[in-house]
Amino acid sequence: MAKQTTASSRPFFYPQAGAALHCGEVSIESLARRFGTPLYVYSGDQIAGRLGLFQQALAGREHLVCYAVKANSALAILRLLAARGAGFDIVSGGELQRVLAAAPEAASRVVFSGAGKTEAEIDLALQSGILQFNVESEAELKLLAARARKLKVRARFALRVNPDVFAETHPYISTGLSEHKFGIAIDRARAIYKEAANERWLEAHGVSVHIGSQIRSAGPFGAAVARVAGLVRTLRRAGIALKAIDAGGGLGIDYHALVATATQPVHAQKNGPCDATVKVAEYAAALEEALGGFDGRLLIEPGRFLVAPAGALVARVLYVKRNGKKTFVITDAAMNDLIRPALYQAWHEIAPVRPRAGRPRAVDVVGPVCESGDFFAHDRKLAPIAPGDLLTVLDAGAYGMAQSSNYNSRPRPAEALVEGAKARLIRRRETVADLLAPELL
Ligand SMILES: *Cc1c(COP(=O)(O)O)cnc(C)c1O
Repeated sequence: MAKQTTASSRPFFYPQAGAALHCGEVSIESLARRFGTPLYVYSGDQIAGRLGLFQQALAGREHLVCYAVKANSALAILRLLAARGAGFDIVSGGELQRVLAAAPEAASRVVFSGAGKTEAEIDLALQSGILQFNVESEAELKLLAARARKLKVRARFALRVNPDVFAETHPYISTGLSEHKFGIAIDRARAIYKEAANERWLEAHGVSVHIGSQIRSAGPFGAAVARVAGLVRTLRRAGIALKAIDAGGGLGIDYHALVATATQPVHAQKNGPCDATVKVAEYAAALEEALGGFDGRLLIEPGRFLVAPAGALVARVLYVKRNGKKTFVITDAAMNDLIRPALYQAWHEIAPVRPRAGRPRAVDVVGPVCESGDFFAHDRKLAPIAPGDLLTVLDAGAYGMAQSSNYNSRPRPAEALVEGAKARLIRRRETVADLLAPELL
């Protein structure tokens, strides 16, 4: 069992009993030696495999998987996805420039979301020839029309409608209710499309919806797309034929999935490998059913689902200390490197790179930042840990490095990409000189 590199297996695993944790064919110990810690490690094979799951599940209709760049915007990951036919969902001019830097040929596969697009961002997107603007307000549509007229570039737009669908997830990442700031009330959309038909430089290209993130069941996606498909039928009767339905992103992953060992292969586990394949198939079936007879193009914008399980944050243990009844494992990685536990009370599996024998004990795994919110796990039962050990925080490929900061003047981690038996640095570790460079005295 030398390699586990398909989308339906965990990319981080112990090849045999007593062996160190691997990412695909590469040992995490060798990566930590080469690149230092804290270090983000990504499995390129896993990312490609998960993209393939969506592409296969949607093969029966015209579609485009637009990876949500904000989940992880590493240039090497964007290039890897673009080479396999992915498009991109961006939410800023900066993200567009990342796509242009990594894969300029993919500009025509970009959709631009976000409630606060600036004039400069709109101009850059128009000049780059992106596929579609997902417009979130009438004022934005007006600005888009004016800029398109000025630059003499036709702007393909979709209204992002708010379907008023409830999706059970963390309140910070739920977006599909009328009380949220996102989108345009679906009842208003028809009138806006009709008005836009008079604008020579606007093309009503599609309609889009995005109901939130880390949504684990297919039902809410189906409900949202059904409402959107109804709008498309109404518009068609009124003579406005939209070419695309953009179902947004948001499909969640199982943060409690376990690491495979030789004695407990991953396919024998609950929430095991087939989980991803099954989830994507359920998701695609729910969309398909909701689309009814729509024969245009389906766009989807997965972020987390493509990259989260493909990434881990590798940290070295600095100290193990006891305060009263509690044991703290202090690592060289901190909340500035991965803020999800502090921000969303997120749960991440923690796997020692070389597990020690002995009785598991409940410990807090924390970083060196001066905040009580600086933790990766509270009261987690882990095998004995000693200073110098390597730990990995799993499922950290999405909203990990992308949400990192320099809080406490900590340079951000290096990033490495594993493909087959090869690993390479895709972002060098920041230096303090990098941090000081923009400052003036
Ligand atoms: C964040 C976001 C996504 C991606 O969400 P995931 O949960 O990472 O799949 C897709 N579309 C829009 C508009 C978003 O804001």
